[in-house]
Amino acid sequence: MTVLPARRLLLVHAHPDDESINNGATMARYAAEGAQVTLVTCTLGEEGEVIPPELAHLAPDREDRLGEHRVGELDAAMKELGVTDHRFLGGPGRFRDSGMMGAEQNGRPNAFWNTDVDTAAPYLVEVIRETRPQVLVTYDPDGGYGHPDHIQAHRVATRAAELAADPAYRPELGPAHAIAKIYWNRLPRPVVEAGFDRLRAEGSVFPAAAEVGDLPGVVDDARITAEIDGAGAHAARKTAAMRAHVTQIAVDGPFFALSNNLGQPIFTTEYYELVHGASGAPAGERETDLFAGVAS
Ligand SMILES: [Zn+2]
Repeated sequence: MTVLPARRLLLVHAHPDDESINNGATMARYAAEGAQVTLVTCTLGEEGEVIPPELAHLAPDREDRLGEHRVGELDAAMKELGVTDHRFLGGPGRFRDSGMMGAEQNGRPNAFWNTDVDTAAPYLVEVIRETRPQVLVTYDPDGGYGHPDHIQAHRVATRAAELAADPAYRPELGPAHAIAKIYWNRLPRPVVEAGFDRLRAEGSVFPAAAEVGDLPGVVDDARITAEIDGAGAHAARKTAAMRAHVTQIAVDGPFFALSNNLGQPIFTTEYYELVHGASGAPAGERETDLFAGVAS
C-alpha cells in the first residue's frame, strides 16, 4: 500500500479556471509545502466564451472544441501551481458544461446540471476514498454566484463527502473515509470593496469594472473563518496560473477580466468559511492553515 503524504487537500470545482481564481495561492502553498493537493474539475468548460479572437473558432457554436483546449490550459495552470494530481469527475468529458442558468444547454442529457447528484457523486467517492483528504474545499450552496455547474459541484461534493464516510456505501469504491474539515470559498465584502477602490484609483486596460455583486461567495467579515496569505511566491504562481487559462482570463498586473472584459482585483489572500469540523484557531480568531487542528 502506498504511503500518503501527511496533509491531504481536495478541491472540487466546476470548470477549468475556477481553481486558479478561487484557490490558486492556497494550492501553490500546500503543493510547495509537500502536502497532497488533488483537484477534481467537474466539466471541461465547453460552454465558456472565448476571449482571444484567434481562438474564437473553438467556441461551442463553431467547432465545439473548447473543452479539449481547456484541458491543456488547466494542465498548464497546474504546472504553474506545482500541482500534479488533477482529474476530471468521471474522466474528461463525462459531464458537460451546462452553460449559464436558464440556457437551453442546461437540459442536455450529459449536462452536469441535468445529472442526478447520486449519479455523479460515486465518481467523487472513489477519489475521496483513494486520496483520503482531511480537508475539502468547494462552493457554498448557491455555487458562489448561481451558475448551475457551481451549484451542482457543491451538491456533488457535499453528497460524496457524506457517502465516502459510510462503510456500507459501495465498499468496492474503497475503504470508507471521513473528511475532517469542509470549507466553502469566500470573499469578505470589505476586502472586495477595497480591491475595487484600488482598481478605480490605479486604472487598468479594462474599459470598465465589475461590481461587488458579480463576484462569487462575497459575505460579511464575520463569516470568514480562515485566510491563506498568498504573499510573494504563491501570489505570483496564482497569477501565472490564471494567465494559463488564455481563453477565459485576461490579466493586467494585479487585475483581471473574464470574457465580459470587466476589470476585477486578483485576490492573492484567499478566504474560507469552515462549515464542517472544528476550527484549529483560538476562539474568535481566523485560521491561517486549513489543516489547523487536524491530526495527521
Ligand atoms: Zn466556473
